[in-house]
Amino acid sequence: MKRLATSWLAIGLCCLTSSVLAAPDEKLKAAAEAAKPALIDTLRDMVMIESGSSDVEGVKKMADFTEARLKALGAKTERRKVTHGPGGDIVIGTFEGTGTRKLMLIAHMDTVYERGISASEPYKVDGNRIYGPGIADDKGGIAVVLHSLQILKDAGWRDYAKLTVSFNPDEEIGSIGSGEFISELADQHDVVLSCEPTAAKPAAPHESLLLGASGTATGTLEVKGLASHAGAAPDRGRNALIELAHQLLQTMDVAKAIPGTQLNWTTAKAGTVRNQIPEDAVAGADIRLTVPDGVAKLQAALDEKVKDKLIPGTEVKVTITPGRPPFVANERGRAIAQAGQAIYAEIDRKLLIAEMTGGATDAGYANRSGKAAVVESFGLAGFGYHARDEYIDTDSIVPRLYLMTRMLIELGKHT
Ligand SMILES: [Zn+2]
Repeated sequence: MKRLATSWLAIGLCCLTSSVLAAPDEKLKAAAEAAKPALIDTLRDMVMIESGSSDVEGVKKMADFTEARLKALGAKTERRKVTHGPGGDIVIGTFEGTGTRKLMLIAHMDTVYERGISASEPYKVDGNRIYGPGIADDKGGIAVVLHSLQILKDAGWRDYAKLTVSFNPDEEIGSIGSGEFISELADQHDVVLSCEPTAAKPAAPHESLLLGASGTATGTLEVKGLASHAGAAPDRGRNALIELAHQLLQTMDVAKAIPGTQLNWTTAKAGTVRNQIPEDAVAGADIRLTVPDGVAKLQAALDEKVKDKLIPGTEVKVTITPGRPPFVANERGRAIAQAGQAIYAEIDRKLLIAEMTGGATDAGYANRSGKAAVVESFGLAGFGYHARDEYIDTDSIVPRLYLMTRMLIELGKHT
């Protein structure tokens, strides 16, 4: 294999791609093929564990399962309590190698489904599809990590300084208790490969790697008015509900003038009884961001808009609470995705590079400081996540194992 004398990380683009061979690594390919049945067994075991984000017992079972598997692979493991939310542990596995690069793999153990989902959506094999809650998002990602590391362990690969695996229990609720930790851990690594699913046929013509995902934030618009008898003395009141309506209308399009931001008012509440002019009203907005400074710009624009009031004497306040940061891959991330395309070409498959998705992922936390090169969607191909017919495409198992193992070998080589 051609080895480059210079550092691809320093140079950025191109070098990694050029060092990828056109012919497949037959040994690795055979190992990926041999691993397929075991990966499916692992998937079934994990789908049998219901692990909705709020299901503390379920996510603990997933943590027990994945920690045991990482230990069996030779990792030093650690569990960390999440700092916010319903609870659960982040499972961290660390491998010490003989090389120079620091590599990190992330996936999440929780699903969007409530306890009892298996009764209506059981694990089910149908041709090249396997259905089950969370099977693609993101148990497929965990399976790719575990079985790729098994293949590489069997091959005696240790060409890394440190290889870290992190599985969190709260991705589907914004990683509210693990996101900060993911950011900090990612900053200690050169590369982070995030293992969310890639869309399967027929939803997508080809599998892909992802370089961007929107961030999230919550907007809150609060109006303080003055209560008064709605029948006897309405004019003495300051109607918070009416003022809220005015503010919603005049701010509804505010994000349209700020590229990379989106705001939609989605909830509202005002008043408590019919016969009182309401003194409080509040609305909530779903905010999506594809630019790092989106929150600040949106806040400034909203603050300016709400100065214009309909009802004098009311107080209006807008706050934006940032959620998951937007993910916009850096040039090193892009170079890795391009190397992925070359790796897929070795096994005669086409890999697309997707620039941006509306769904937020933990790649945003990993990429926040820009220190590590981050690429998303190393999980299995699937579809129907967050819906009623979630499945993975078993034809993606071998290519995805080949991609991950081949990529790690390649990333480890570069000094
Ligand atoms: Zn996910």
